[in-house]
Amino acid sequence: MSRSSIRKRLLAWYDANARDLPWRIGPADHARGVRADPYAVWLSEVMLQQTTVPHATPYFLKFLQRWPTVSDLGAAPDAEVMAAWAGLGYYARARNLLACAHAVAGEHGGVFPDTEEGLRALPGIGAYTAAAVAAIAFDRPANVVDGNVERVMARLHAVEAPLPDSKPELKALAEALVSDNRPGDWAQALMDLGATVCRPKAPLCDRCPLSADCKAFAGGAPETYPRKTRKADRPRRYGVAYLLIQGRDIALVQRPPKGLLGGMLGLPTSEWRDEALSDLEALAAAPASGDWRHVGAIEHVFTHFALTLEVLRSDGGQGFDGAIWTPASGLGALPSVFLKAARAGLDRLV
Ligand code: SF4
Repeated sequence: MSRSSIRKRLLAWYDANARDLPWRIGPADHARGVRADPYAVWLSEVMLQQTTVPHATPYFLKFLQRWPTVSDLGAAPDAEVMAAWAGLGYYARARNLLACAHAVAGEHGGVFPDTEEGLRALPGIGAYTAAAVAAIAFDRPANVVDGNVERVMARLHAVEAPLPDSKPELKALAEALVSDNRPGDWAQALMDLGATVCRPKAPLCDRCPLSADCKAFAGGAPETYPRKTRKADRPRRYGVAYLLIQGRDIALVQRPPKGLLGGMLGLPTSEWRDEALSDLEALAAAPASGDWRHVGAIEHVFTHFALTLEVLRSDGGQGFDGAIWTPASGLGALPSVFLKAARAGLDRLV
């Protein structure tokens, strides 16, 4: 298998098939010298780490319209940015986004460092994002390895070692293909191949520019790569969410700044623990005295655990200091776990 022929064929495929993405400078424009906006590249990469292109795109456009530069984002009130992030999940990323925006705006005059090392030194930027921004925005020969690239490498070389142990090997295989020639296009070509052709379940090998060199394709079962060790089941936690209603308003609380969904508005809840609360425990943990009735339950999956939330509702109640009364029509910006819980209670009784 020749390194240069793999590079040549994949780049030619990218020239003809690159996805049209709102943050991307396509290969033809790039060849003419048009350069990507590092802020747009960084924003898109952070969003895409936890969701798909179709889901991230409207958020990306909204962020860019509202905060056109990283300095605008850095100057925005944290709560506004967190609220705009709602629906993209995993709020630690939004906090990292803010930490990085503050640093670039405050310490770098609103200009992103143009090397992988410089980017890596920013708060809230991990190795993957630093490599992706260095390659795509600054054409640095960085090795950009996400799940798509790991999959392509595992198949191309029929790597038998299972993930996650094979990660260093897959990274080294990807590194061997990086070059000074068109590094940004190369990184995006690999991403596009993984996303549109070398798909997880049903790879389209008959359309793949690398099929002649692909060992997994030659073996007849490319979809079985990358090999994986069996995942332990995600742990489950249990809790209770409280829907306290006064007229048209619902009581919300601001969550503590640190921890899961930190700083966000949410419904008041009990602690989340390894076993379900009894009815008495659920009433004892309520934020106010009231006529609490069980109105439903929701399931929500976080990165590290699954949560079952029972939903109790009371129409009227006393003694809830610190409640933030919010009209039911204004709940749309809540993190999805609380939105689900609110809907579970409101659907049944309103
Ligand atoms: Fe993936 Fe098939 Fe191409 Fe191999 S031939 S890289 S399995 S799409």
